[in-house]
Amino acid sequence: MLSQDQQQHNWKPIVREFEAIVGKNNVIQRREELIVYECDGLTSYRQRPAVVVLPRTTEQVAAIVKICNKYCVPFIARGSGTGLSGGALPVVNSVLIVTSLMRKILKVDLENQRVIVQPGVINSWVTQAVSGAGFYYAPDPSSQIICSIGGNVAENSGGVHCLKYGVTTNHVLGLKIVTPDGSVVDLGGEISETPGYDLTGVFVGSEGTLGIATEITLRILKAAESVCVLLADFTSIEAAGASVSDIISAGIIPGGMEIMDNLSINAVEDVTALNVYPRDAAAILLIEIDGLEVEVAANKQRVVEICKQNGARNVTSASDPEQRLKLWKGRKAAFAAAGYLSPDYYVQDGVIPRTQLPYVLREIEALSQKYGYRIANVFHAGDGNLHPLILYDNSVAGALEKVEELGGEILKLCVKVGGSISGEHGIGADKKCYMSEMFTAADLETMQWVRQVFNPKGLANPEKIFPTLRTCGETAKAMSEVKKKFAGMEKVELF
Ligand SMILES: Cc1cc2nc3c(=O)[nH]c(=O)nc-3n(C[C@H](O)[C@H](O)[C@H](O)COP(=O)(O)OP(=O)(O)OC[C@H]3O[C@@H](n4cnc5c(N)ncnc54)[C@H](O)[C@@H]3O)c2cc1C
Repeated sequence: MLSQDQQQHNWKPIVREFEAIVGKNNVIQRREELIVYECDGLTSYRQRPAVVVLPRTTEQVAAIVKICNKYCVPFIARGSGTGLSGGALPVVNSVLIVTSLMRKILKVDLENQRVIVQPGVINSWVTQAVSGAGFYYAPDPSSQIICSIGGNVAENSGGVHCLKYGVTTNHVLGLKIVTPDGSVVDLGGEISETPGYDLTGVFVGSEGTLGIATEITLRILKAAESVCVLLADFTSIEAAGASVSDIISAGIIPGGMEIMDNLSINAVEDVTALNVYPRDAAAILLIEIDGLEVEVAANKQRVVEICKQNGARNVTSASDPEQRLKLWKGRKAAFAAAGYLSPDYYVQDGVIPRTQLPYVLREIEALSQKYGYRIANVFHAGDGNLHPLILYDNSVAGALEKVEELGGEILKLCVKVGGSISGEHGIGADKKCYMSEMFTAADLETMQWVRQVFNPKGLANPEKIFPTLRTCGETAKAMSEVKKKFAGMEKVELF
């Protein structure tokens, strides 16, 4: 946490120095313009930054970060602001470094299956740039038409196709980053194996606390010869969950496997009018099978059998690209459609072992009844990544606190069955209180050492990921034990 005196700044000279680097137009300081940047997709947390700066190059980012260091002001990177855990939430008196003018695809190297991009490039643009030659970029968050590659790297984002092909970290070969003191460093490279510590791996998923990525080398894949999408229609969500487990146990790894429950199905149909999902199903399972034609045909038959054995009323299939797109379009619109179900919703993002799906879904339903809030379920079922959407009305006094408590119960349930408090949305400001549910004080301390090495002044995205005294009573107790243990050693900033 920054001290009171670090928070007191005369912003005039700082702004003048920023303007000298990026030009007056790319420094935002007017109150009404700053409102746009006061939150990300987690809209229940808001804090206006003091200044927003929009650089275009690595050199400009480095110069801005150096100025932040000179004046000891915190800075936060922001891509498209679609994060759902408050990762790009500004702190008091901070500078927001926004990458939305850094949107160049710098190099396309089809022969070596890699692309180099600036961080503000939108996820779906990468596939658009290479699809004509039969390639694509695999990680596909449902927000892919708006979220940035820089944000994806920072959150280690997942998506529908990450079950088979892996999440962002499996597709980042190298990074150019500006470290929190303003140095420019290359991590990894253009080939898949580099000797020494895997610092690319350390940086991916670090949520902007270890510096700002300014160039990203991505791996692209050759599109599969054959693809088909199945839609299985169930009368219980547990049966859909059991099918997921059985499909994987049968040795089949679909390209994607997603569940939507009745609330989500109807919200999507109301909003998109796609007319592709059965409105009376308790749940649907969307399964994409890809590969060689013979392989797809064989796996398709086996998957249909498994779904039927688990009580599927109907299983339809789409091989035509337009029809497949339509089936996925509804799934990808599910979060947005939830906005029509209630004035507000709070998205959770936990992971559980697949075999626990039926049990956990029942428990979530019980929690929904106990707290009296409806929960829509739409999730990456194949990798056990749940997204319960808790529907509420923020204008009702005390509702947010109750909903956050309910969200916390769901996360604790995930940990209890051997899962995780985040699958892909990151910890950010939202879930730092629950880090101690998963990690011991010594685990957290080890992570803090890493952060301390990259970010010794704590200026890069402070107050994120790690529990703090101010926000987490029970965690504070555990952390003070660690502090005692390390007393007398070189100073480590724990909080
Ligand atoms: C409708 C909807 C659907 C979604 N679906 C998915 C999904 O399927 N899978 C999934 O994983 N996520 C999903 N998300 C969450 C979100 O889109 C992802 O976390 C995404 O990666 C955030 O990208 P962004 O550009 O919006 O980042 P921001 O929200 O701007 O920032 C996210 C974090 O990245 C840091 N950051 C941004 N740029 C950089 C950089 N250049 N260098 C270092 N740090 C940086 C920020 O400081 C912050 O901590 C969804 C969100 C919405 C609103």
